[in-house]
Amino acid sequence: MTVSQRPPPPPLSDAPLAPGLYLVATPIGNLRDITLRALDVLNGCDLVLAEDTRVTAKLLTAYGLSKKMERYDEHAAARTGPRALALLAEGGRVALCSDAGTPMVSDPGYRLAAEAIAAGHPVVPIPGASAALAALCLAGLPTDRFLFVGFLPPKSAARRTALGEFANMRSTLIFYESGPRLAASLGDMAQVLGDRPAAVARELTKLHETCVRGSLSQLAADPALDSPRGEIVVIVGPGEAEVATEADAAAALAEALTRLPPGEAASEVARALGVNRRALYRQALAVKTPG
Ligand code: SAM
Repeated sequence: MTVSQRPPPPPLSDAPLAPGLYLVATPIGNLRDITLRALDVLNGCDLVLAEDTRVTAKLLTAYGLSKKMERYDEHAAARTGPRALALLAEGGRVALCSDAGTPMVSDPGYRLAAEAIAAGHPVVPIPGASAALAALCLAGLPTDRFLFVGFLPPKSAARRTALGEFANMRSTLIFYESGPRLAASLGDMAQVLGDRPAAVARELTKLHETCVRGSLSQLAADPALDSPRGEIVVIVGPGEAEVATEADAAAALAEALTRLPPGEAASEVARALGVNRRALYRQALAVKTPG
């Protein structure tokens, strides 16, 4: 009888880690989505900067690593950033991790990376998981051209204004969203972007991973997507390249005027529908000051 044996875990690299700032992607759920190179960096660095040291400590412990850590989030950046830069100036090795996924993708790190680059320190990406790309691949929507938007404003009026900026772009759009806001966001997307094909990817790489696909209005009305638990990415397919009718423009302008002054409303609709702004502005003034 043959006894199946697990292969031994791959060894960590013996090569000393070169000085520099390492931007280390970590798993977005499944702890096994860590790369061997990320483990080499976390093992070989002098300091780990973590968005939340407790979260990163769990990851290190899972792989038998222990390392000096400091918090690096938007509150601690002013304190920790200069210390990390000083360590880099001495030839140190600093690893930056966020709670999940790729640092700097809707996560802290941009300022430190920019300062390290400006100071001439080596900056090294250690690529790995990111919810945005995992969801994009799962959605079944065009991947040739996409735009990462991240989080939209929480309030509906501001969210619709923000969405207006993307309405005329012929690319797949990627949004991060929270469960409690999902249904309202999907409704706003349907209204401002049009009823496009979309997908809601939830709990990627975790036990309850799901992906629901449908038109934005179907998804907005789906009871299963009313305040679901867990982490969520919304993917929206590109709109059809269609010519807006006068009636479309008038309706969009009337809606925009409920939120915005005439100039801004005209700009938003012109951008969204690809129509002439000056004519819209005249129309907007006429609506605001009838007679
Ligand atoms: N830096 C991370 C990345 O590369 O994906 C994103 C950090 S951002 C603060 C957190 C948001 O990413 C969540 O609110 C959710 O929208 C999305 N997200 C993170 N993990 C996810 C997962 N496992 N499944 C679905 N969405 C996820």
